[in-house]
Amino acid sequence: MRDLRISVTDRCNFRCTYCMPFDEYTWIERQQVLSFEEIERLARIFLRFGIQKIRLTGGEPLVRKGLHGLVRRLAKLEGLGDLSLTTNGALLSEQAEALYSAGLRRINVSIDTLKAERFRALTKRGNLDEVLAGLFAAKKAGMSPIKINAVVIRGTNDDEILDLVQFARANGFEMRFIEYMDVGNANAWSLEKTVTKKEILAAVNSRFPVREIGRANGSAPAVDYEFLDGAGEIGIIGSVTEPFCSTCTRIRLTADGKLVTCLFAESGFDLKALLRSAASDDDMAEQISKVWAGRVDRYSDVRWEQVRGGDYEPRVHKKIEMITLGG
Ligand code: SAM
Ligand code: SF4
Repeated sequence: MRDLRISVTDRCNFRCTYCMPFDEYTWIERQQVLSFEEIERLARIFLRFGIQKIRLTGGEPLVRKGLHGLVRRLAKLEGLGDLSLTTNGALLSEQAEALYSAGLRRINVSIDTLKAERFRALTKRGNLDEVLAGLFAAKKAGMSPIKINAVVIRGTNDDEILDLVQFARANGFEMRFIEYMDVGNANAWSLEKTVTKKEILAAVNSRFPVREIGRANGSAPAVDYEFLDGAGEIGIIGSVTEPFCSTCTRIRLTADGKLVTCLFAESGFDLKALLRSAASDDDMAEQISKVWAGRVDRYSDVRWEQVRGGDYEPRVHKKIEMITLGG
């Protein structure tokens, strides 16, 4: 394991149609959500296994009160090479400076469209101007690199691939396109709506020629490309049509302390129960080690095999919602 993704809350101030299609959800009860102290303790234990990167996510991480306090704790951890955050950006303009002062340098902001009305329709509650203000506040605070995540959905925003690239290049951000996935149990995913990594690349290449660099550390979800004119890089995450289960080094901690070894998992190991018992750090390390050694997940590989064989049915496989386990 090399990358730890920590979901700090399952709550969100948006309702992106591809992620949280319903208005109401049954939220994790507050006392079940890990405290910052608990997260820090677990992070230290994970570092023993060679975790090099921690990404804070959710739900929307910035709705967790005082998140910069957690960033401050984690940024101090010895041996942690990289701390980052994925956010929808709505609360970023008011938090960017505090997050930077606490030690956050790298951030991903999710922006699927640059059209205000479309943005509102996709997120149901989002305001594009606020998110763009947050994006530029992060830049002003000194964060770098700043990546923009965009899920590309056929018939929804696939006409904006070049506009997004243009916007990112012009402002010093890095685009990260994500194939639309069947996360959770409720989104209306179909293969036809997934714009493939190849299609995204062809669109980018049609105006901004790129050269492949590869996956960071050989195991990152995104394949990176650099512009031939030297104006930066983009990344494309092709988890549907080019699954990367065999090189996956990610482990996830849900907001309520479950340990999960796949984004498409059905259940997790209850680390919180152990954490809130009298277990020692060594006891917890032993359990973490067992969970990791025993993992058999290769969901995206299986999905692709089934999709190609014509017998994939997303709703048959019950998954933990992405907001709970941290996208
Ligand atoms: N709320 C934060 C945000 O939106 O950036 C962090 C959590 S969100 C679950 C993390 C990332 O997952 C976002 O970039 C989002 O676009 C992406 N995502 C959500 N649902 C997806 C789906 N069905 N397919 C592909 N990516 C998805
Ligand atoms: Fe919220 Fe992020 Fe999911 Fe959108 S993608 S609903 S912002 S958690």
